[in-house]
Amino acid sequence: MSAVALQSLWSVTAPPGPAFTPLSGTQRAQTAVIGGGYTGLSAALHLAEAGRDVVVLEAVEIGERASGVNGGQVIPGVKADPDALEAMLGPYAGGRLVTTAASGPDLVFDLIARHGIQCEATRTGWIQPATSEAALAQLARRAEQWWRRGAAVDLLSRAEVLQLTGSALYCGGLLDRRGGTVQPLAYVRGLAHAVTRAGARIFTQSPALRLTRKTGAWHIETPQGSVSAPVVLIATDADTGALNEQLRRTVVPVPSFQVATAPIPAALRRTILPDGQAASDTWQLLRYFRLDASGRLVLGSRGTFARTPAQHDVQRHYRAVHEIYPQLKGIKFEYHWGGMVAMTRDNLPHLHELAPGLLAGLGYNGRGVAMATVMGRLLARRALGAPVVELGFPVTPVLPMPFHSLSGLGARATIQYLRCMDGFTRVGARLRTRALFRA
Ligand SMILES: Cc1cc2nc3c(=O)[nH]c(=O)nc-3n(C[C@H](O)[C@H](O)[C@H](O)COP(=O)(O)OP(=O)(O)OC[C@H]3O[C@@H](n4cnc5c(N)ncnc54)[C@H](O)[C@@H]3O)c2cc1C
Repeated sequence: MSAVALQSLWSVTAPPGPAFTPLSGTQRAQTAVIGGGYTGLSAALHLAEAGRDVVVLEAVEIGERASGVNGGQVIPGVKADPDALEAMLGPYAGGRLVTTAASGPDLVFDLIARHGIQCEATRTGWIQPATSEAALAQLARRAEQWWRRGAAVDLLSRAEVLQLTGSALYCGGLLDRRGGTVQPLAYVRGLAHAVTRAGARIFTQSPALRLTRKTGAWHIETPQGSVSAPVVLIATDADTGALNEQLRRTVVPVPSFQVATAPIPAALRRTILPDGQAASDTWQLLRYFRLDASGRLVLGSRGTFARTPAQHDVQRHYRAVHEIYPQLKGIKFEYHWGGMVAMTRDNLPHLHELAPGLLAGLGYNGRGVAMATVMGRLLARRALGAPVVELGFPVTPVLPMPFHSLSGLGARATIQYLRCMDGFTRVGARLRTRALFRA
């Protein structure tokens, strides 16, 4: 039974997006893009600005999936640390991937400024508060790696994290000044406006049902029409379905769920994230939180696979808010919503060439606001003919996960396992604190 009515805060506070219609009849384009989230729209925008004739097909409405429901945290880089990426891919390819991924926030905030997108954009940084001394040591190593690459990153003491977040829960942290926040639905709708102004055609309620190659072009069928194009970009992330079975089996969709409080009273608000940063902590099942423009606290964490969350799933999110901010006990929770995050086997996003003229970019592992925008630009560059070596991002073979049909079960089990691990860490920390006070 559902505990709450599901409604996203962003759907209430975003300006309306442009109106689109379903595709009907036969269309031609130089490039067809399947998926109208950040990846697809960024690709379409960069292609249209380069003079290409582009059609975007979106299965539902713009922003109905991850790009319109996420936490709006603009995070530089991918999950792996820079040194790890260089060890994994070699110093040259790894180094270029680090630079490309780190450029994400610059691209997002530049597009917002250039296209006048009204999306509550702030750029005061992104905080990783540490939940243990071991996690803090890991953050210190991360900070040192970014310093070597000249990035604007600070290591924070316990007192500094307390001052910046208003939470006494954390023992230190990392502030990455390149990051920031957006109202995610307003951002994706703003991109859609920019795409149409640049001359591309967007069709909503137009799922690509079949993709075939005929006489030198790709042919996409939708319920009421079709598009032919020599180049097709698949940008469907966690929603990747049967259109390309191999691609579908490269990602595992995992739920993430968010709650938003009522606006926090002014006096308290001055102490909670007073400078407007976003934060994602270091638990295995991390909690990400921020304020919106009206001073509501928005917190997200792993969700439930059920379509409608049960009471205890929702309560877990309330408890997380109260654990981080005991001063918010008693505040009303007014919005509850979730979506699917696409996880990959190596925790990295991927750009694939599935066949000549058929590209795909996906798998952001919960870090897609900046990276999906970058991926769209990469896909556009490749579609415009940039050689792979000039992309600054590897083009990798499609490696479907073995036993993918069991991945849902695996993801559920992993979530439970990580939840237990976090539980043990919490108990250990409590026991250590007690021992410290007794000593
Ligand atoms: C709850 C939640 C919180 C998150 N928080 C953050 C965060 O704070 N920071 C961050 O960096 N990342 C976050 N993410 C991840 C981020 O939202 C995604 O990585 C990013 O939005 C992916 O963009 P996309 O365009 O690739 O995919 P999507 O936004 O999912 O867009 C894909 C689109 O393809 C469409 N589609 C699928 N199949 C077809 C088809 N056959 N035909 C036509 N269209 C099709 C879908 O309808 C969808 O609109 C979060 C994700 C979730 C779910």
